[in-house]
Amino acid sequence: TLSTKEDHVDVLIVGAGPAGLMLANWLSRCRVKTRIVDKRGSKVFNGQADGLQCRTLEIFDSFDFAHRAWREANHMLEICLWNPDENGHLQRSDRIPDTIPGISRFQQVVLHQGRIERFFLDSIKEHSDIRVERGVLPTSFNFDEAKAGDFEDYPISVKLSTLSEEESTPQQQLQHQRSSDGQETVVEDGLFRSNLVADDTEDLIQATEAKGNRKSNQVEHIKAKFLVGCDGAHSWVRRQVGFNLEGGSTDYIWGVLDIVPITDFPDIRHRCAIHSADAGSLMVIPRENKLVRLYIQLQATDCQKNGSKADRSWITPEIILKSAQRIVHPYKLDYAYCDWWTAYQIGQRVSNKFSQSERVFLAGDAVHTHSPKAGQGMNVSMQDTYNLGWKLAHVINGLSEPSILQTYESERRQIAQDLIAFDHRFSRLFSGRPAKDIMDEEGVSMEEFKSAFEKGNEFASGIAVDYATSILVAKETDVAEQDKDTIISKPQLAVNIDIGKRMPSFKVLNHADARPWHLQELLKSNGRWRVIVFPGRLTESQNMERFERLGAALGGPDSFIRQFTPPDKSIDSVIEVLTVHSGSRTKVELLDLPEAFHPHHGDMGWDYWKVFVDEESYHEGHGQAYENYGIDPNHGVSVIIRPDQYVSWVGEVDDYEQMSRFFTSFMKQQAGN
Ligand code: FAD
Repeated sequence: TLSTKEDHVDVLIVGAGPAGLMLANWLSRCRVKTRIVDKRGSKVFNGQADGLQCRTLEIFDSFDFAHRAWREANHMLEICLWNPDENGHLQRSDRIPDTIPGISRFQQVVLHQGRIERFFLDSIKEHSDIRVERGVLPTSFNFDEAKAGDFEDYPISVKLSTLSEEESTPQQQLQHQRSSDGQETVVEDGLFRSNLVADDTEDLIQATEAKGNRKSNQVEHIKAKFLVGCDGAHSWVRRQVGFNLEGGSTDYIWGVLDIVPITDFPDIRHRCAIHSADAGSLMVIPRENKLVRLYIQLQATDCQKNGSKADRSWITPEIILKSAQRIVHPYKLDYAYCDWWTAYQIGQRVSNKFSQSERVFLAGDAVHTHSPKAGQGMNVSMQDTYNLGWKLAHVINGLSEPSILQTYESERRQIAQDLIAFDHRFSRLFSGRPAKDIMDEEGVSMEEFKSAFEKGNEFASGIAVDYATSILVAKETDVAEQDKDTIISKPQLAVNIDIGKRMPSFKVLNHADARPWHLQELLKSNGRWRVIVFPGRLTESQNMERFERLGAALGGPDSFIRQFTPPDKSIDSVIEVLTVHSGSRTKVELLDLPEAFHPHHGDMGWDYWKVFVDEESYHEGHGQAYENYGIDPNHGVSVIIRPDQYVSWVGEVDDYEQMSRFFTSFMKQQAGN
């Protein structure tokens, strides 16, 4: 048919890499009408990013698929540092734990991007009818900014064109390899996604325009409330809104080789940072399926001709291997099987803006690029949209004021800047030549490198993320007379719970059945806010009184929970109340506690999954949650947690008034209450 198709959507996502898929995944849980398109005809199958931070695994767990990654991935426990001794001979100089012990219930692991994308695709399919539309390219964009303030309106128009199979399949430089049994296979390279080759978006747009009306059944006009560009470093969406990537491009070219190594180097199954005396440095990342990834910073002369810009045709797996061999000398390093390889040049850049009028957003590589050394790219990209997804859903579903959307840029741009600063520091240390002795000021001393590595590890775990004060993060502890409306936190009541950071996790027992749970397992990513009440020892009457007072207020007919929950939805569907008391399980009866803490869901009876206790379990020890969170069991504390597990507020157990003011500043009164 020649009639042009049209569709109205809440969110249009451009790009189905890690950032786009995380967003589609959130929106699939929150029933938001979403379309997601990608110009490529297929997902990534091997290579590309591979490191998963502790925080990313915690997030995957909140979506119920961390176990898949955890099981398949290679776990990295130790980092070995190698550098030349005084005679220039390579030696192992140190070992440090890869993940700081105790920082998370997960440790850093590696698994290639294609598998991560698979987990997302399965999860999205399980929870919604959203499907990635592949081989689909946006070719025009229009934003009626005058309508940006009306969040019921669809101010964004995008034209989508369906590409032919040929157009959506990029050309690869195919290399053939022969295995020991004589079989010939083709090695895939990632150069087509690398920034060393020109992006093909503009060519594709021109080609589809040239086809004109002949194929108008292949064109669709989309009207969207929100557009999110997750379309990678060359972002087309970024160009439409005219944002600029600020920062510099380094001259470093990185070669990446995924091989099954044949070597006598003793630490090939450890993560290693190897500094040679004068042949450069190498990062070894042991991977799943017997693979090992080598990251090598190529010497400019390896891939440049007469000082020209690096030429991709000069970079081959052999060149990358030869560089690696020089670095690990006198150890031998070779391979018969190469799974994937690539080369790319690193710019350290951050976009000046992440959002246009809170209607067009950018995330992932579209707004920050940096080196691959610390395995941050995929993680930070996914965490961008993990931050954005629930906020969009809350606004679209009419639960929150649009003002919360401003915190996406204020929170994530800061993280991107921190990341670039981290990358700068780390780059110099990694790329610098090792110091010959203590008088060698230009060289990098191994002590300096080790200490930076240890500090870097906290950043690289993703756990250090600390969002600043905003309407969603109440860090103020004191107010001036004129600012009576400011929401006040009392961090001293839980000294190890940091407002702005993700809620740490310790084991607690379900009061109703004594089963141990990690607290974080209770904080699923399903769009709910949580008030976690730690009332202390409930056998003490003053603690019980405060707890009952809070229960009466929360359970009241005009409580803020009631006001912000649509009347046809379950009372825990917007703000869920969880309790962790400190005992005793046997002296306190669940059904004696106020109903607000164990709501009755009509035909489904009492809710037995809301009250927990900090006591010894039968089989898994004692989580010591109160001690670990720094909470006094004689006093207690209440904590408000965002739908993405970050801590918003810490205050007195029964400070209903502050809690109510916090939520009232951005939540919407639901009609019919
Ligand atoms: P991407 O993964 O780039 O996804 C963008 C998606 O948008 C793609 O699927 C693309 O096809 C699609 N797209 C682009 N333009 C359009 C358009 N106009 N219309 C429709 N769709 C479009 N990180 C590491 O941590 N370790 C590594 O070893 C590593 N190696 C890398 C090697 C290469 C060659 C590249 C390019 C990146 C590498 N990275 C690595 C970085 C990591 O892959 C990224 O940080 C991560 O994938 C970012 O996710 P994203 O979703 O923001 O973008």
